[in-house]
Amino acid sequence: MTSRVQTAVPTLTGLSSGEAAERLAADGPNIVAAPPRRGILARVGRQLADPLVALLLIAGTVTAVLRDLPDTVIIVLVVAVNTLIGVVQEVRADAAIAALDQLAAPVARVIRDGRDQIVPAAELVRGDHVRLEAGDIVPADLELTEAQRATFDESSLTGESVPVHRGVAETAGAGTVLTSGRAAGTVARTGAASALGRIAELVARTRPGPTPLQRRIAALGRTLGLAAVAVSAVVFALGLLAGQPLVRMAITAVSLVVAAVPESLPAVVTLALALGARRMASTRAIPRRLHAVETLGSVTVIASDKTGTLTENRMSVQQAVTADGTRFTVSGAGYAPDGEISGPDGVLATVPLALWDLARGGALCNDAGLLPPDGERTQWAAAGDPMEAALLAFAGRCGLDPAGERAAAARVAEHPFDQTRRRMTTVHRLPSGGYLTICKGAPESVLDAESDPALLSAATDLAADGLRVLAVATAVSAEIPDPAAPPPLHAAGLVGIGDPLRATARDTAAAFERSGVRLLLITGDHPGTATAIGRQLGLLGPGDTVARGDTGPLTGETIAHARVYARTQPEQKLDIIAALQERGEVVAMTGDGVNDAPALRRADIGVAMGSGTEVARQAAELVLVDDNLATVAKAIGEGRRIYDNIRRFLRYGLSGGVAELIVMLAGPLMGMPLALLPAQLLWINLLTHGVPGVALGAEPAETDVLRRPPRSPQESVLGAGLLRDILVGGTIVATVTLAAGVTANGMGLPWQSVMFLVLGLAQLGVALAVRARPAAGTSRNWSLIGAVAVCVLLQLAGVLAGPLQTLLGTDPLTAATILACFGVAVIPGLALRLADRRHWTRAVRPVPPGPDALPANASTDVE
Ligand code: ADP
Ligand code: MG
Repeated sequence: MTSRVQTAVPTLTGLSSGEAAERLAADGPNIVAAPPRRGILARVGRQLADPLVALLLIAGTVTAVLRDLPDTVIIVLVVAVNTLIGVVQEVRADAAIAALDQLAAPVARVIRDGRDQIVPAAELVRGDHVRLEAGDIVPADLELTEAQRATFDESSLTGESVPVHRGVAETAGAGTVLTSGRAAGTVARTGAASALGRIAELVARTRPGPTPLQRRIAALGRTLGLAAVAVSAVVFALGLLAGQPLVRMAITAVSLVVAAVPESLPAVVTLALALGARRMASTRAIPRRLHAVETLGSVTVIASDKTGTLTENRMSVQQAVTADGTRFTVSGAGYAPDGEISGPDGVLATVPLALWDLARGGALCNDAGLLPPDGERTQWAAAGDPMEAALLAFAGRCGLDPAGERAAAARVAEHPFDQTRRRMTTVHRLPSGGYLTICKGAPESVLDAESDPALLSAATDLAADGLRVLAVATAVSAEIPDPAAPPPLHAAGLVGIGDPLRATARDTAAAFERSGVRLLLITGDHPGTATAIGRQLGLLGPGDTVARGDTGPLTGETIAHARVYARTQPEQKLDIIAALQERGEVVAMTGDGVNDAPALRRADIGVAMGSGTEVARQAAELVLVDDNLATVAKAIGEGRRIYDNIRRFLRYGLSGGVAELIVMLAGPLMGMPLALLPAQLLWINLLTHGVPGVALGAEPAETDVLRRPPRSPQESVLGAGLLRDILVGGTIVATVTLAAGVTANGMGLPWQSVMFLVLGLAQLGVALAVRARPAAGTSRNWSLIGAVAVCVLLQLAGVLAGPLQTLLGTDPLTAATILACFGVAVIPGLALRLADRRHWTRAVRPVPPGPDALPANASTDVE
């Protein structure tokens, strides 16, 4: 098939989906560089390159040369199983990460087949007609065909951070950001041919680096390896002194190192993070990097927007105050343009002229639209800014036809809304001649304190009721005025706009409180409105005040105490984050606008709204599909659960290693020159580290996961008593094993086989003991129980099955001895569990009843 290269600008119907598919096949996807794929051989190679495995392979070669068949077989088995488990975990983790990348991948608005469509940016092709709105990242090199006050931030390409204007026929480079205005254009170049692609070629392709936790775990692994080598060297020396053959002792020492170090540790951590990320995504919080998953667990402060995050972003005008100070109450459902207006004397039959003026001002100085109910929609809906849509519904309730008014008084000039000035201005040609200037925005930005003191104090009253207040002022002139410097304006009045708190908002705030995460509310709204909402959320006590962003810089002192910030600029979020981080806090910050991207990047966890701009989403580490702060509380619970489980794995794996080292070290001192044979050590290593360890990652959340303070970000992964728990656990297991061995020796039983059985079973008992105490109604982690059961059977087979006896050098045990071994082996697990239980009952503090913002069933991710 020949693809017809079409360079001319296509008509407004855009490409057909067939043409697009053809070009996609011909030119390849619109991505800068595909992440290098790892083949299965490369993955196996990486596993084999591990120093421990290399050591083991050398040992295996020696045993093979010496024709020591059993040890060779076991070594090969260990290497094969470890490699298999390692590769499988890596593939699963990569698959989970790739799925996440897909979920958060950028999208583009194109016209294809004559319809507006949203497609993955990766599927754009030359000739596609793309529309851009403020906050969009330009998805490919575009030849602009339309540009309305379009400014682009080209810092990603040029490093120059001052936005530049681009007009029709100019190029908008891929990777730049439309910071204001609107634009549309035709795709000229995609993928590596685009501006971004050419730049990307200059920088090396890198995979995202390891997370801090992954790095710390790797360092921990190295330290453990060294410790194990040191202890093994002592064991080696002791063995030689006791007259053991050199080669045998060398192989024992190597096996001991391999057995004592949980080599699956990094893989377990990565998999736990990746599966956790996937689970978060299924609760509508999409982590964009694994880093987010681990950091979420240690978040100490969450700074949230108000509008849409804690409120529903379903706005309605509830109060109106006209220029003469008369107050009106507005009723009506949602965005439907009909309802009632009541004045001081009851429901109005006719709308007074002053109110009519106010309503018309709000409808004209307005970029939104209302969508009537249709086949899909059962109710009127907002198109564009919900607050402006509320003004249209209000105009309808006053008996105006917004569309008719807009047609009659065409807009001829404007100064768009900006968050710094908090107002917007439009200029309209009046049918009667002359021009009408309308300015709407925050009362103190629109009204004059000298001439309108009464309205300004009415605004404070409306805000104190939790309403968002807008003032409208107008002027009529003969000539077109400059909308940036309008003529003197006369107040038309105020509207008070309600935006109900989300039903879950209070519970969410309480859940953060319980989990020791400080919730901050940051808004551009009036201090009165912010105070009212802060009170409703329980963030402000009776005497507490709000911090204001418009009365001077926010000082560290203010930031240390404030819970609610009003009249802030997006840039001030950076100051707030910096001051909090300076105090050692781990900060999550929500945002959705173009101006929020720097704060999202600066925060430890940037949280973008799914409905927000592309640039905010791409700057964030977590994307909230449903815009709901309650989802962050869930994600924090999930982050803590994952961290808990990594520590569980450490406790289990390392206490086993410690036990093995102690047994091998103490054995010779107790008359057992070689406490366990190399093959036996490796077999135990195989059983205990593999599947049960991985299964611990699927443990459900603890009951108190959201009722305890966050962990300190400085705390080591072995901190908060874990190191002690590991040493205690390892010592108990070793003591029980040695005691069993000595007793068996005294009774003339095969003491080595007894120790082998007890050591393996006792470690599996510890796996069960370190399980979570899940909340009521949470299903059990059956994968762990199943894995332990299988391993118990395999461990039994190690002393009972003929071929395994040969391989492992074990002797048959009688039923009574085996029972006795079981009885002894459950002691460490039981002891640890009982000690933990006492600890829990003491540590669990009484908590106020109330719903936890936790997923009802937090333990189903088992495969
Ligand atoms: P928030 O933090 O709640 O999102 P914004 O920064 O969006 O606050 O808005 C701050 C203030 O700017 C609002 O309280 C309102 O007074 C004014 N404002 C917001 N949107 C508009 C608009 N479309 N037109 C005029 N003024 C607006
Ligand atoms: Mg806003």
